Formats: sequence, C-alpha cells, structure tokens
Amino acid sequence: MSKEFIRISVRNGLGKLTLNSNDHNTLSGETIFEIGRKFEELESNPDVKVVVITGDPKSLFSAGADVGEIHSLLKAGNKQNAREVMELLQAVLVRIEKSTKPTIAAINGYCFGGGLELALACQYRVAKADASASIGLPEIGLGIIPGLGGTQRLPRLVGAERAVKILFGGMKALVSPGNAKIIGLVDRVIEGDFGAGVKSFCQEIIAGQVQPLPKADTLQLDESCFSSETFQAVVSGKASTAVNAMKDVLRAALGLPLAEALKQEQSIFIRQAFSPDGIEGVSAYLENKRKPKFSQVEGESTAEQTSAAKETNVQSGGLTEEYEMLRQTLREFGANEIRPKVDDMEREGNIFPDIIGKMAELGLFGVPFADTYGGAGLGKTGYCIMMEELCRVHGSVAVLVGASTGLTGGSIALYGTEAQKQKYLRAIAEGKAIGAFALTEAEAGSDVANIMSIAEKRGDKWVINGTKQFISNGDIADVVVVFAKTDRDLGANGISAFIVEKGYPGFKTTKVEHKMGIRASRTTSMEFTDMEVLEENVLGQLGQGFKIAMNALNYGRLSLAAGCIGASKRAFELAYAHASQRSQMGKKLIEFEVIQFYFARMRSDIFLMESSVYPVAAMADRGEDIRLESAIVKLTASEMSGRVIDTALQIHGGVGYMDEYEISRLYRDARINPIFEGTNEIQQLLIFKEIFKSGGKI
Ligand SMILES: Cc1cc2nc3c(=O)[nH]c(=O)nc-3n(C[C@H](O)[C@H](O)[C@H](O)COP(=O)(O)OP(=O)(O)OC[C@H]3O[C@@H](n4cnc5c(N)ncnc54)[C@H](O)[C@@H]3O)c2cc1C
Repeated sequence: MSKEFIRISVRNGLGKLTLNSNDHNTLSGETIFEIGRKFEELESNPDVKVVVITGDPKSLFSAGADVGEIHSLLKAGNKQNAREVMELLQAVLVRIEKSTKPTIAAINGYCFGGGLELALACQYRVAKADASASIGLPEIGLGIIPGLGGTQRLPRLVGAERAVKILFGGMKALVSPGNAKIIGLVDRVIEGDFGAGVKSFCQEIIAGQVQPLPKADTLQLDESCFSSETFQAVVSGKASTAVNAMKDVLRAALGLPLAEALKQEQSIFIRQAFSPDGIEGVSAYLENKRKPKFSQVEGESTAEQTSAAKETNVQSGGLTEEYEMLRQTLREFGANEIRPKVDDMEREGNIFPDIIGKMAELGLFGVPFADTYGGAGLGKTGYCIMMEELCRVHGSVAVLVGASTGLTGGSIALYGTEAQKQKYLRAIAEGKAIGAFALTEAEAGSDVANIMSIAEKRGDKWVINGTKQFISNGDIADVVVVFAKTDRDLGANGISAFIVEKGYPGFKTTKVEHKMGIRASRTTSMEFTDMEVLEENVLGQLGQGFKIAMNALNYGRLSLAAGCIGASKRAFELAYAHASQRSQMGKKLIEFEVIQFYFARMRSDIFLMESSVYPVAAMADRGEDIRLESAIVKLTASEMSGRVIDTALQIHGGVGYMDEYEISRLYRDARINPIFEGTNEIQQLLIFKEIFKSGGKI
C-alpha cells in the first residue's frame, strides 16, 4: 500500500476521498489511518461542504479488512497490542461519524466487512445499481465477528432483527443495492452515471433536501430471534464459538450508548479472534480459502428450519436470504402499516395515499424489475412472495399492486422500448406512477378478441375511441396500457397496445363499481373520445396486442395464485385462533375431531398451493414459457383457497358471517379469484389447448 493511493479532490463544494489502495481496497491499519488523515484534511477545508468516500471507479468500494494483517496480529499473540490497534482504528471511524460536515459513502462495488463498517460510520450511503455493489459482513464465516462497529451500527440503522440475519448469515446474507434500499441500509440506489448521481445527491444534501436515515441510540434485543428455526438455518455450518461471540456482543452492547457498545464489541472481537476458531478461520481464508476446521459447527446435520425460512425454502428451492428479507419486510409493513387501516380503507373504498407512498418508499412497486429500471431485481419469485404477503393482510392492496406492477409494468417490461421502459416502467417501479391495464369491455370479457375500441392512424398520431369496463386502479392510474383494434378484420391479430397517460385529452374515467369484495380496490370504466396517442407510445408491434395481454396475464395469474396462498394462510390462522378459544359442549372446538380434520385438509391445500406456485415462479425466472403452468396454478390455487377460506369461515360459525370478523372479508375477497385475470373456465380452455397441442402426451 502506498499512501498516495488514497486520493482526495475538492470541486464545487464536494470533497472526495477515493480508495484505490490495491485490487480489493482492503483496509489495513495503515490504510485506515491514512483515510483518517485525508478525511481531516477535507473536513477542515472551508471549500468542502460534503465529504464523499468512494472506491476508484475501476475498482470496488472495499472488500473489507486486510485479513493478512489480522493474521499477523493473531500470530504475534499479543492481545494488548491488538487491542490498542483496534482502538485507534475505531477512533478513525468515530471521527468520521462525528464529522461536522455531512459524509457520504458512495458504494460503487463490493462493500464487505471493514468496508461496510466504514460506510456505516458515514451519515449517508448511496449504492450503484449494480449486482457488484452487494453489501455484507462475512466475518462469521472466518470464525470471527466484526470489530469496527459493524455489530453495533448496523442494528441501530436497520433494526436488530434484520441485522441478525446479515451478521450471522455472512456471505450467505449479502444484500443487493435494491434490497439495501428496502431495508434502510442505503439512502439511495443510483442508476446510470454513478458519479453524476452522487453529485446530485450531494447537492440535495447541501440544499437541505435530504435527511439521514434515523439511527436508534440503543436497541432492545428480542432473544426469540436466536431460538427461531430461521436463525438455526442461517447459522448452520458456522463456528459455534463465533455464533456465541456474536450473540454475546449483541446481548451485551445493543442496550448501551454507542461509545460504550463499541468498547464491548472490541473486547469480544479480541476474545474471539484469538480463540482457536478465530485463528483457524483466518488462516484457512489465507490458505487459498480452504474450508476451516472449526472446533464445533452449528447444526451440522440437525438444523431444522423455521416455518418462515421453510416457507421461503419450499418456495424458492432454498434460494437466498434476500427473499427471506423481503418477506420479513412485508410482514412488518403489513402488520404495522396496512392492517390497522384495513377497515377504514374498506369502508371508504380506496387504498390510502400514505400507504401507497410508504410502499413506494420501500421499493415494493419495483420488486420484480431490474435495477436498471428502478426495480429491486427480485424477479417473479420475489413478486410472488410479495403478493402472498400482501394478500395475507389485505386483498385490495394486492390488487392495486397486481394491476400496476404486474399487468401494466409487466407489459411494458416485456414489450416496451428502452425509452418507454425508462419513462413509464421506471415511474411504476418507483411508485411514482400507478398503472392500469385496460382490456375488458362490455361485450368482450372472456372473448378478448372481440374488443370494439378502435385506434385509427391520423397523420402521425393514433386516435383511440372506445369504452372499457371493470378496470382496476381505473381512476387512480397515471399510466394505462390500453388495448384497441388497429385492424377490425384481423380478430385477435388486429389488436394493438398503447401506453396512455391519464391527462391525455379525450380520456376520462366513468362509473366506479361497488363490489362484493376487494372493496378498497378501485374498479372503474374508462372512455376514450378521439384520444390522441403518439406513435412512440405504441407498445410492442402493431397487431401484437393480444399476445402482449396474454403474456402479461400469464404472470398475473401466477401472482394471483401466490396471493391465494397468503389469504389462505391468514384464514387458517384466524380459524385456529378461534377454534382454540371457543368452547361448545364443554370442549374447545379444536378438540373435536371433525374440526381437526378440517385443519388437516386446509393445511394440505396450502401445502399443495405452495408446492406448485413457487416452482412455476422459478420457471418464469429462468425465462421458461409458463402459459400452461400459470393457467394450472391460477385454476387450482383459486379453487383451493376458496375451499380453505370457506372452511375457515365455517369453523368460525355465526360470527364468521359478521362484517366485523376478518374472515368474512377474506371470504368476500376470495370470490374474485376464479373470475378475473381470465375466468377459471377460460383457464381450463387454455390448459386443454396445451394438452391438445402436445397430442395428449404427459
Ligand atoms: C373486480 C374486477 C376487477 C377487474 N380488473 C380488470 C382490469 O384491471 N383490467 C381488465 O381488462 N379487466 C378487468 N376485469 C375484468 C375481468 O377480467 C373479466 O370480468 C373476466 O375476464 C370475465 O369476463 P366477463 O366478466 O365479461 O365474463 P364473461 O366473459 O361474460 O363470462 C361469463 C361466464 O361465462 C363463461 N364463459 C365465457 N366464455 C366461455 C367459453 N368460451 N367457454 C366456457 N365458458 C365461458 C365465463 O367463464 C363465465 O363463467 C376485472 C373484473 C373484476 C370483476
């Protein structure tokens, strides 16, 4: 390492400290001290308004502490010396944290271990929208724990529960930029030109337009997070002593003010690093990353998984922590933000704008889409997890997201030009625009090919006339994908799709429907009178409209089936709670065998739904054609959840029929599933069409 490899520059009020110490920007003691010196230089410069710490654009942010140096310290065996070094290093990060000027970690590539600890000491963090900008704390895999504040600053920023997953998950729990935004680990994800994005973020800070994310002073640790089966799955394969050291540091220090907490962390870090497992883990890493032989490994063969982790595992074929984190975020959001307002929203017949705003902030409207278009990059599996969790709380919220993200955003993602995606898909993904999908007409429901809306070319514009009905999000949508005939003689092949904005002259929304269920979802008619649409807003090719609608609906049906799982699980838990407390004939309902059999059947249906829906989501994520499978899961899951929810209501008896009981809303909401996104009769036609095409082969 040479000192000049930490460069500083000052321009337009922005003091930049660029790390380029070596290939991985590993942080040796000397590098960190040099960062501290250069940082002070920038901070004391009156021209500097904000300080940005970043990695060289050709490199990454930082792959973490210099493991070779840690190894030398351990080999020397001098704990006192190690303690003094750690104290000095921590002091550099505390100095950055207490800076009189705003500090920003601009994460341009991998940000691991010590690199993340440095970023956590900054007031703000922004990350490049790129898979290589993943973030994590891999120390536990080396048999040690973070020692530069990671165990303390991370939980104070993202909450103890999420931090536990990242800290104990190590390399298995790396967080993508999109998810980092969702969990509040970074303030912003920057698309496109990273340098320009960082500059404009700095300008917003200087103008007082952005505030740092809140950090807790102290935290209460909920011990149950260590006994859950999810936790067992996360720590499986890790050194037991390191797992215990991590538990110790969280237990001992989260309730203390940060300065005290950092001292605790340091002493437990030294204890663990100098333990046989710490030395073995660090040595193994240096010896070509061989597998370490820890004294005892957590849950080697017996680790069971919790229902939540099991849910995600069943559903994602054992896929990453990111899905698990998404589910957790949605559970918390659903419980804390949506559920308390469900009754009011049902009564008023809309989803409150503050809920939509918070969902946008969490990035939920962009879950399935690529980072490049403002999405979280979690694909169809992530999208299904989201729809499942939303339906567990409120079907109407799920319909709003399904129509906007799924059908409207989905159509543009599949067939949009780059310009259309950057303009419309991005707005939908970021929750800045709500989408609607306008296909159905009074005389064309199942018979899509029979739509009467017409688009005629006049000069260089398309002029659309027609009426749509039953359009979800109809009167709250900013962007609508409208299907109209561009050639009346060609049947389905004469349909084209157009992207329309709500303010276009000639566009108005008319009748608002009053519905049996999903009452907070807006369902309206739309009228187009000589509505002009630019050529650049034609979606896909002319005549491709039917194909666009069918492909978007394939994914819509899949996510509808995922929603059926969530609603069924909620009905199941409500019924179980009721049956466990209600007594008749001297016994709790749950003690009657017939009721137990009901539960066994409901549980079986839920299992079958999960076991079919998520593999189809995985197929979709692999880019496979799911037209047959999505029709199958839509048909079967909507039937099964209808049965589950009906049984759950039956277990409630008379109270289940009363509006004030949640089960009655679940029952009303579930009735739409066999009807929209193609009725179940139409699904059977589609399934048979595929059977026929394959000549009955199975
Ligand atoms: C709450 C709600 C929200 C909606 N949101 C949207 C939206 O956002 N965008 C949108 O474009 N549309 C939307 N729709 C429309 C929905 O997709 C249609 O209602 C649905 O496709 C059925 O069409 P239909 O109502 O005209 O029924 P019909 O097509 O008239 O069907 C009536 C019955 O006949 C059966 N049937 C029809 N044809 C056949 C056949 N060939 N063989 C056997 N049986 C047949 C049907 O299965 C059904 O049982 C929504 C509907 C509702 C109720």
